[in-house]
Amino acid sequence: MAQILALLHTQADGTLPKAALEIVTAAVELKNQLDGTLKVGIIGTDAAVAANTVAGCGAAAFLAVADEAVATPRYATDAAAAAALIQASGAEIVLAPGTSRFMRCIPGAAARAGAQADTHIVSLKADGGKVEAQRWFYRQRILGTFTRQASPWVLVVDGGVYAPFEGAGTAAAETVAVTFGAEDLRTTVTGVIRPSADAQTIRPEAQLLFVAGAGWTKKQKDGQTHVAEAGTLIQDFLAGSGASLGTSKSIVDLQSEGQEALTFITHMNQVGQTGSTPRHPKGLSTCCHGEEPHVVGWRFINERRAVNLDANCGWAQGKADVLYVADAFEVMEKVNALLKA
Ligand SMILES: Cc1cc2nc3c(=O)[nH]c(=O)nc-3n(C[C@H](O)[C@H](O)[C@H](O)COP(=O)(O)OP(=O)(O)OC[C@H]3O[C@@H](n4cnc5c(N)ncnc54)[C@H](O)[C@@H]3O)c2cc1C
Repeated sequence: MAQILALLHTQADGTLPKAALEIVTAAVELKNQLDGTLKVGIIGTDAAVAANTVAGCGAAAFLAVADEAVATPRYATDAAAAAALIQASGAEIVLAPGTSRFMRCIPGAAARAGAQADTHIVSLKADGGKVEAQRWFYRQRILGTFTRQASPWVLVVDGGVYAPFEGAGTAAAETVAVTFGAEDLRTTVTGVIRPSADAQTIRPEAQLLFVAGAGWTKKQKDGQTHVAEAGTLIQDFLAGSGASLGTSKSIVDLQSEGQEALTFITHMNQVGQTGSTPRHPKGLSTCCHGEEPHVVGWRFINERRAVNLDANCGWAQGKADVLYVADAFEVMEKVNALLKA
């Protein structure tokens, strides 16, 4: 009978992040398909309390590493804790969320536990007792389906693929003891520096992806550029709507070429073949031509709209549901006024 471990960690406030709850849903589905058994392993000082939030998942056991050493993310202690949980569970299949904490330590944990690991998994299913996983290769262009003989096999799943698990109760968590050596503890977290909420323009949970293309920095109908005005319009819209900011490669390249540019946009915002593939229910593209290397990053955006002066731009070639052939400066000024009203 297949043994599955949902390997999770808590976040700073002691609760399980959404990505961890999604893994519990994935693990329950896989357990049902394989007619297997499920265990849940949690890393974090509040692991035992956090286990209660997923107590209704039907797990045979809840294992916890709640040592003070795992209070904050740190490669050495996280890798040791994850390896200990994998070994203590006796699992053949381990599912883990693709959070930054786990993306860092899972390869090391898998090596220690004699496991093999795959990341960026976007689909899982069991067919005839065999687990098949899917992930994208070659910058989101080829979707591969594969399986492995390895046991344990650790599958790190991307966020947003499964619905977060709901089913709290009372879980009797068992503590798994891990001996941390002095070398595991030598790195200490002295503080956290993070941008203010306004400066943080990449918002994975936002309902809308707003893309600002290079047109915002180009000469407009008066023959002049209006970069400062563009910056104000874009930032006002982000503040008013809570949208996540994406951009095209052209605008990112402008920054590095030293041209007058929108300084709050970085390469981290780039969407596309050589950028990111965000997941949002809706997307609005402005001043972006909608070329294939950019639009391939919109794969997981369901409803797409674009504003472009050019009625023959890429968005008009079947890439958007609605194309507004209009001046984005005028459109966004009006939209911002409506948001403020
Ligand atoms: C190997 C490779 C990988 C690539 N990877 C990526 C990638 O990951 N992401 C990416 O984005 N690109 C990528 N590209 C580049 C891509 O092909 C395009 O060059 C890029 O997306 C163009 O950016 P843009 O549409 O913002 O700019 P432009 O092509 O300059 O388009 C600007 C648009 O703004 C419009 N416009 C101007 N003023 C206004 C206004 N007032 N109102 C409304 N519309 C206006 C214009 O009509 C025009 O359509 C890649 C290219 C290659 C070769």
